[in-house]
Amino acid sequence: LMQLFRPLDMLGWVYRSIRQGLIDMEAMFELLDTPAEVVDAEGAPPLVVSQGHIRFEGVHFGYEDGREILKGLDLDVPAGQTIAVVGPSGAGKSTLARLLYRFYDPQAGRITIDGQDLAQVQQKSVRAAIGIVPQDTVLFNDTIAYNIGYGRGDAGQDEVEAAARGASIDSFIASLPNGYQSMVGERGLKLSGGEKQRVAIARTLLKNPPILVLDEATSALDTRTEQAIQDTLDRVSQSRTTMVIAHRLSTIVDANRIVVLDQGRVAEQGTHDELLRRGGLYAELWERQAAERVLEETAQAAE
Ligand code: ATP
Repeated sequence: LMQLFRPLDMLGWVYRSIRQGLIDMEAMFELLDTPAEVVDAEGAPPLVVSQGHIRFEGVHFGYEDGREILKGLDLDVPAGQTIAVVGPSGAGKSTLARLLYRFYDPQAGRITIDGQDLAQVQQKSVRAAIGIVPQDTVLFNDTIAYNIGYGRGDAGQDEVEAAARGASIDSFIASLPNGYQSMVGERGLKLSGGEKQRVAIARTLLKNPPILVLDEATSALDTRTEQAIQDTLDRVSQSRTTMVIAHRLSTIVDANRIVVLDQGRVAEQGTHDELLRRGGLYAELWERQAAERVLEETAQAAE
């Protein structure tokens, strides 16, 4: 009977994952053995990342015929910088990340890393160069050590522990009855949203990619946890080219550059202060979210 349940279990997991938007794609690809959305050209060379300079050049993309999501998008992310991508819901923020990870190829235009067109290199090498911290990390029903080391089967215990320290989840693990051998996932310990995010950060640290994509959680963690995670992410993103997909604006106020997506293009970009002064779409989104925050805080205070 268990043999019948296992595939069903997996399907449920995949379904829940897909619903979550920018999911733990690395995990899913390995499990499903990569869907045939993109195919490598014959003899395609591997991507070689020297600096980590990302460019979107006139990118057009739609999931379905007749409905373009990106309509000639240009974006330049210099090596080592952090940019935050914001915009109304459905503007295509997660789509940008999926294209960068070569989940899909653009229908026109190109995306390059250090001058190499992603559509012309081995997709495996693209995914090896990019670490994604998804909104919601899917944990396997296995030990916490396995979950951190996932994707780096050759990682030793000392490397796993160093990654856990880097993600500030080491003291939490030390407090578990079986430490690194504690079972987590749906049939083991249930981790909180913040703890799961830290597992994802630790995984990324082990991978040590030159390029990082952070898909911020849509729902707020409590303020202290959020600040602590933010500090960890700031540390992790140093010296890597980082793209932060921000669904809420409060967390990206300090980004080097904020890029505002609207109607399939970059509507405006600048620092938080520049964009507020401009009084455009960003200023409007900011005001709307500020009003929502006041409501949330009032509701919390009343509890
Ligand atoms: P949010 O902040 O709400 O997460 P977003 O800016 O990240 O939004 P995307 O997830 O990139 O938005 O989606 C952009 C558009 O593409 C949406 O209209 C969405 O419905 C559509 N879309 C996303 N994924 C698919 C898919 N797999 N197939 C078809 N359409 C899709």
